[in-house]
Amino acid sequence: MQLDIVIVGSTVVDGTGGPRYAADVGISNGHIRAIATRGGLRESARTVIEADGSVVAPGFIDIHAHDDRIVLDKPESSHKVMQGVTTTVCGNCGSGLAPLSEDVGPALKGTDLERLFAQKQPIWPRVAEYLDAVEECRPGINFAYLAPHRLVRAAVMGADEAMPTPGQLARMQDIVRQAMDDGAIGLSSGLFYTPGSSATHHEFVPLLEVVREYDGYYATHMRDEGTCLLASVAESIATARDAPGVRLQISHFKAGRGPETWGLVHPACEMIDEARRDGVEVCGDQYPYTASSTSVAAYVRTGLVDQYAGDIQLCWSEPHPDAVGKRLDAVAKEMSLGPREAAEALLPATGVYFGIGEDDMRFVMRQPWVSVGSDGVPGAPRPHPRAFGTFPRVLGHFVRDEGVLSLESAVRKMTSLPAGMCGFDDRGRLRVGAVADVVVFDPERIADVATYEDPCQYPKGISHVLVGGELVLRDGTLTGARAGKVLGRS
Ligand SMILES: [Zn+2]
Repeated sequence: MQLDIVIVGSTVVDGTGGPRYAADVGISNGHIRAIATRGGLRESARTVIEADGSVVAPGFIDIHAHDDRIVLDKPESSHKVMQGVTTTVCGNCGSGLAPLSEDVGPALKGTDLERLFAQKQPIWPRVAEYLDAVEECRPGINFAYLAPHRLVRAAVMGADEAMPTPGQLARMQDIVRQAMDDGAIGLSSGLFYTPGSSATHHEFVPLLEVVREYDGYYATHMRDEGTCLLASVAESIATARDAPGVRLQISHFKAGRGPETWGLVHPACEMIDEARRDGVEVCGDQYPYTASSTSVAAYVRTGLVDQYAGDIQLCWSEPHPDAVGKRLDAVAKEMSLGPREAAEALLPATGVYFGIGEDDMRFVMRQPWVSVGSDGVPGAPRPHPRAFGTFPRVLGHFVRDEGVLSLESAVRKMTSLPAGMCGFDDRGRLRVGAVADVVVFDPERIADVATYEDPCQYPKGISHVLVGGELVLRDGTLTGARAGKVLGRS
């Protein structure tokens, strides 16, 4: 058997959660062709990668990403490749760049979607056109897209906060059907944000009936991740129960509004476990940090700035770049303004918000249904470090240094678990016949380097990354290969 690449001397962690084992891995024509006892494949390869002491695993799937724009601007996606990520799932939190047309812009003034138009960035009325644009950029990693509910709703109802009429609902169903035909792998919601926060269960169930026809899934940024966390989890589960056959993914699962909300993840997990016992397919994802991040406008609109100004650190502010890196209460003091007035003066702006408990984070990380998802928003001058450090932080800090979970279960949360949610049958497991999306890393050295002060730093300890059998990272150096595909398109 002639092989293109053989990885020799490695320890296989296959993504299923099963125990690691010593083997060589042979790759040809973009697929894994052989997994054999050490030394068995070396002679048959054109390229040999020496991986003594390293782990070889399926490439990581970032099930919760916001690379919608950067995949077009920087298609090599180095911030992901350097973390071992070979697939990014976008269109999350009910927002994205398609389906969206300019004519709805004026109606969305004052909503959380306003920025999409203010930035004068390209948008696409059809998901197919957007995914064509992604393909034309030849991304470095694979790309998948969810139909964003807020855009679907905006197309039919603008910023109207009413319930949709039967006619409006039928039009929303048509848009979702079109998006799924065009290659979307599910529907995402952002119930924390406008427009979208006025949508209820009664709106989602008919939309998910369309999603089910395509075996898609439903990802939700829930209505509240604070004191009303349990009501939000109940709402999400009720929606999934009433749309049987649609898998539910709870995005960036946490109790994130300071100490008074910490501990709520325990009863929330009990509710999810109970639903799972009843056969409802509920999963979630998590980034391994105690700060969340979003637009300052959302903190203002929801009143969070009044209460938590001391816990919000500025990532970016268009009118006040000098405020970046400072806490909002300190900036307000400098401006001799109240926190709300100061926040309004900083807009448009983004911030990180230190509102998640350490113990909660570790507890959620141990839940077997929780995937790793970065929620990273790269491109800002000072983004949340999760955009650069999520996957190596789990494998280094939480697996090796703290022993919160085993290496095998951590890799499963980055591979087969999200692959199952997304419906990627031939990825997420290291087995013969699978697509050769592969990462090689040193479990003793892997570590995140990105910090809140200096977030745009690549991690350490990942030596090789293959996408579809092509080396995009070799001996720690980006090769420039751009082998990514848009997944989910027929
Ligand atoms: Zn979100």
